[in-house]
This record gives sequence, C-alpha cells and structure tokens, in this order.
Amino acid sequence: MVSIEELDERKKQVSERLVKKFVESGIGLLYQDSEEDKYTFQHEACVDCRDRLTICRAICCKFPFALSRQDVEEGIIRWEFGRPYLIAHNADGYCVHLDRKTHSCTVYENRPLPCRGFNCRDNEKWKVWLDYGRKTINNELMEQTDQSNGRIYSCPGL
Ligand code: SF4
Ligand code: SF4
Repeated sequence: MVSIEELDERKKQVSERLVKKFVESGIGLLYQDSEEDKYTFQHEACVDCRDRLTICRAICCKFPFALSRQDVEEGIIRWEFGRPYLIAHNADGYCVHLDRKTHSCTVYENRPLPCRGFNCRDNEKWKVWLDYGRKTINNELMEQTDQSNGRIYSCPGL
C-alpha cells in the first residue's frame, strides 16, 4: 500500500525528472522578450563598420541570439533547426546571412533588432575592442566566441 503522501512525492519526482529531460534535450523555445518593431527602432548603433571590418571580421555576426516573433513570422531570417528560434549559424560560426567575402549582411533591410542595436564601441558583455579608438581588437573574445558557439550550436540542449 502506498500512502497519499508517498504518491505525491513520487509524482513530484517524476515531474522533476521530466522537466530535466525536457531542458536537457533542448526542447523549448528561445525568443526575444521585446516585441519592439525592428522597422521603427530608434536606437540604431552608429559604428564605422567599413573601416573596421578587416580587423573585427564582423565578429558580431558570430554572436548567438534569439529571433523575435516579428522575425519568425516574417520568414526571412533563418533560425537554427532543432533550436528554435536561435539565429542560424553555419559551421564556421557565422550567421548564415553574412556574405563571407565582403563581411556584409545579405538581409540588411530585414536584419533582426539585436543587429540594429549592437554597439561594439562600449558593449560590456561583448567587449570587441581592447581600445576602440586605436582599433585594438580583443582576440580573447574571438577565441571565446568560437568556443561557446561550438557548445551552443553543436550540443543538444543549452
Ligand atoms: S564588431 Fe563592430 S565594427 Fe565590427 S562589424 Fe560588428 S558592429 Fe561593425
Ligand atoms: S542578420 Fe546580418 S547583421 Fe545580423 S548577424 Fe546575420 S549577417 Fe550579421
């Protein structure tokens, strides 16, 4: 005979196991919290990318981020199959929409909001430059980004 309390405890354990499995298998959705319209976004970053691309090699197009509902419904920006709705990357770590020769965005008019707002001049989380004015790149971030992308994009579950 099993008491009601024991039954409850077992149900709780099973439910915790299921949640863990759910998270580990990567089932679930990632999406931007903000529902701001990217086409009327007022805070586009002002960075002289053209003068910096040979040094930064568009490292910001290697950063992982989730698409918004607007991006997904629009159906232009590709997301990672099996990991909805993380922006799709190729094996070289770059976003699938980056032109590899010119390092330019092939979906510029429709690019997601994080691409519009990212400012590498003073971003604390993604510290692209050791010295922005002197264009001294942070090589450590380059290496870290490749390593973390390898984990995020190649392993099941985040
Ligand atoms: S890292 Fe900075 S300079 Fe380089 S492409 Fe991105 S925003 Fe432009
Ligand atoms: S959508 Fe364009 S700007 Fe955004 S990460 Fe991809 S290539 Fe870069």
